[in-house]
Amino acid sequence: MDCTRCGACCVAPDIAALDKPLGLRCPHLGADNLCTVYDRRPQVCRDYAADEVCRRIDAPTLEERVHKYLVLFELTDEARRVRESGCSSMRRARSG
Ligand code: SF4
Ligand code: SF4
Repeated sequence: MDCTRCGACCVAPDIAALDKPLGLRCPHLGADNLCTVYDRRPQVCRDYAADEVCRRIDAPTLEERVHKYLVLFELTDEARRVRESGCSSMRRARSG
């Protein structure tokens, strides 16, 4: 499927190259849900391509899409733990 630029893959997954924890918005994601560092985004972001997951998490709002992603991969508990710990760093979230 084509990427709809919905922004969910810049919020839902943890991204080690960016030290971005699960379920938290990438600091480089603009208010329009587009990457503000597109030309110098890390390789992992360059390699990411729209697939079946994008269709399965489709929903009217970004929040709903992120929630569906976390449910799909059974990551809701871990995401809640990260949120409640207030960690904006993946490394700190994991060591806590
Ligand atoms: S989740 Fe899929 S459709 Fe949405 S921005 Fe990422 S690749 Fe594109
Ligand atoms: S660097 Fe850009 S493409 Fe990568 S997760 Fe952040 S906003 Fe998305």
